Formats: sequence, structure tokens, C-alpha cells
Amino acid sequence: MRTIVRHTVVFHLTGLLLIGVNPNHAAGQTTDTERAAAREIMAEIDDLQARLNPTGMAAQLSGRSDAERDAVVARTAGLWNAEMQDLSDFIGQNPEVAWEEFLAVDTLTAVLRNAGWTVDVGVADLETAFVATWAAPAGADGLTLGFIGEYDALRDSDGPFHGDQHNAQTPIVLASAFAIAEYMERAGVPGQLKIYGTPAEEVGPPAKVIMHDAGIFDDADLLVRSHGVTETSRSRAGFGSCCLNINEVKYTFLGRPSHQMASWFGRNALEAAVHFYTLVDGLRSTFRPEASIQGVIPEGGEAPNVVPQRAVVDYYIRYPDPIYLEHVTKMMDNAARGAALATGTTVEIDRYGEYRDGISLGTLQELAYAYAGALDAPRMNPEPTRPSGYEETGVVTEDIPGIGISVFSSRGANHTRGMLDDTFNEIGHTGFRISAEVMSSIVYDFMTRPELRDAVAEEQATLSGLLGEYHEALRAAYSAEIGVPIGQR
Ligand SMILES: [Zn+2]
Repeated sequence: MRTIVRHTVVFHLTGLLLIGVNPNHAAGQTTDTERAAAREIMAEIDDLQARLNPTGMAAQLSGRSDAERDAVVARTAGLWNAEMQDLSDFIGQNPEVAWEEFLAVDTLTAVLRNAGWTVDVGVADLETAFVATWAAPAGADGLTLGFIGEYDALRDSDGPFHGDQHNAQTPIVLASAFAIAEYMERAGVPGQLKIYGTPAEEVGPPAKVIMHDAGIFDDADLLVRSHGVTETSRSRAGFGSCCLNINEVKYTFLGRPSHQMASWFGRNALEAAVHFYTLVDGLRSTFRPEASIQGVIPEGGEAPNVVPQRAVVDYYIRYPDPIYLEHVTKMMDNAARGAALATGTTVEIDRYGEYRDGISLGTLQELAYAYAGALDAPRMNPEPTRPSGYEETGVVTEDIPGIGISVFSSRGANHTRGMLDDTFNEIGHTGFRISAEVMSSIVYDFMTRPELRDAVAEEQATLSGLLGEYHEALRAAYSAEIGVPIGQR
């Protein structure tokens, strides 16, 4: 889910092919309406960044000499080399698709239990989600530092495969968390560490939202994670998403079965679904062109000689911002109700997933990038990328500060066989080790440097407030075209 479009390709009228950098590529806004609504808010974000000076703080923190930090980083690398790299390869060689990651969870939680962690599997009513907790001998009363790890593989007709390198994520977290735990024990630092095993990143419903709704992440002061990528980068401070805001909605039409030869006794749910699907196509010109709406009909009846009693249409509805997305979704919901009314059926509407603009903190992004540079991470992209939350749903990032570490680990793009190949070789192994080292550096600094914690807290509070203001500004910008029934304007 991490496709980042960084360049705009323009075919000039004369036939010249111009490849240019989109001037707004580093901002989180896609459309002119969004940019206009965000103008003052962007200025406030710039002021905040000027005040916090994340680049300066990152240079100071990563450049200082701190023997204890260096020992934690060295221990992290040692743990990776000795044990976690093999664990990453093992999960990579035993791919399991979303919600079925039983071997990965069994293996990872066995390692955690052996290391003395308390493990709770099946949290938030998700069979392959877990929370592992370690409380410091000096007492749990202190910071709670959270680590997120995924392990689901991609689906493919040739079988599952780890073409997004999720196999490495939790072993990276283990290398870092174990080294941090040893430091806390050694230095008598109170607090606790939590590792959140988050299943099924690749499919809806979004596991991290379900876990967040269940309060799983509530006590975390910080969340860290990493993901395999094709360059070492950091994102700009602000809010945004790689792949638009998404509503995942399932429309289930229910009719009445009857034999084909007496079809008038039935009410045809498939007919309703087809009408709905066609209505949505008819609505496309009513929506702003940036809307991306795609659906499938996974259920459409059982047999041709029986009037279908049940049919399901499953849509991913995407728009660059959540306000206009809500409008599109409401129009589609009404189209479904209209199709049901017309066919004498009923419709159940289940919005089973939401992905939103996430918050990206300059303080942590710049620190991760500075440490990646100090640790000789390859392929450093000097340009900050579009703001994007540290986890793909964006929802958790609104409430808890965090960082997604992006260190080059593959020449092949995400979701490819090339990325799978590199997960097992020197390129992936090096990138993963550096990811773990960066993770430990950030967690260590967060634990030991109050000035970093203060800056992170201020940035998080300010950005989540500005995100609310941005949505208000968007509501005002769209007021003439959404939310007001025809005839009342
Ligand atoms: Zn992924």
C-alpha cells in the first residue's frame, strides 16, 4: 500500500515528452480545492517546523557522542545478525496470507515468551493479532514504548509470497526491542515495552483500526515500525496519504428465492446489484474527476434456475480528501437504496474499512533520516516525500505519535518478485539491520531526551488540531456542492 507517485508525466501538445517534478509533490494536498483550503494551515505547519527545527535537532541528536546509545545500536545489530535475520528468512520462506498468519504468530510469540515477555494472542478478537509486553525490573511506571510488526504475505495465483517484505518487520522490531530492554534493565530505567503484532495489512477490514478501536494502542507514548522500500527517505511534516482516503463498503442485496419457472414469486437480488453497479457508473460524471471507484460482485446467486436471493457488491471508494469522499459515499449509498426500492429487495450497507490522511511528524522523520545517514543507509533520497502516516490506515496516527522507518531494502518495487528476492539477500538483510538500528536510536533518544519528547508532543498536538481545521475548511469549500439537497440551494 505504499505506492508513492513522485513525478508527473506530461505529454506536451507538440509531442514532446516532459517529465517534471510536480511542484506540490511534497504537500499532502492533491486538488486545487484542497490546496486552497489548506493554504493557511500549511503556513502554520511551516511556522511550527521553523520553531521546532526538526532538522537541527536531528543533526544534534544523531551527531552527539553517547556511548550508551552506541552500545544499544551495536547490540541491535548483533541480535539481528545472530538470530533475527534467520527468523526473517524463515517467515519469508513460509508465506501466509492475511488472517491466516498462524505459523508466523506461533514462531514470533515463542521467541518472545522465551525472552520472558508476556504474550497475549488473539487481541481485539483477531486470531492472528497479538500484544507482547515487557515491564522493566525498575517498575512499569514510566514510558510505554510501542513497536508495530506485520507478517502477512501477498496473495497470488501461484500462492502467497512476501513481495512486500512483511516477513522482516517483526524480526526487526524484536532486535530493537530486545536491545532496548537490556539497556533499561542495565540502566535501571522504569517503563514498559510493547510489541503489537498487527495482521492483514494487505486486505480490509483494516486490522490496525480494529485494534485501535479496541483500545490496544491506548497506553503507547510512541509507536515505531518499519517497512521495506526502494529508497531511504523521510516524509515531510503534515498530513496526507500515499493512496487517497478510502471507504471500503459492502452492499448486500437480499431478495426472495423462487424457481425460474415461477420467477414472479421471487425478488431478484442479483438484478438489484446489477442496477446498483450500473447506477454508480451513471453517477461518475456527477463526481469530481479525482474520485476513484472500483467494485466487484463477489456473490451473485447460486444457480440459474433459482431467482438469486442474495447478491453482494464490494466497493473501494477513494478520494484525495475525506470530506468529499463522504459525499461520494452517501450518493452511492442512496443509489443502492434506489436499486433495492426499484427491485423490491432490501440492501444492507456495511462500511467495513476506512483509511484516512495520516499525521507525519517532522521531529521523528528527520531524526530517522539523520540516523539512517549516520548508519550508512544506501540510496538516500535528499527530497522529503509527501506526508503520510506511519501506518497505512492513518487512523492511529491521529492519536499516537509515531514513525515509520524507510530504509532501502530492495531494487524491485513493492509487491513484486524482485522485492521478494531481495528480502533474502545482502540488500534486504543490510536494509533490515539498518532499520533496526535506526529504530533503536529513535527509541533510545525518545526515552532519554526530554527535549525530543516535548517537541514530538507539541508537534503531534498541533498537527492533529490543524488536521481538524483543514477538514472544517474543506467542508466550507465544498458547501455549495455537497450536503445540500437539490431544490434547497
Ligand atoms: Zn506493506
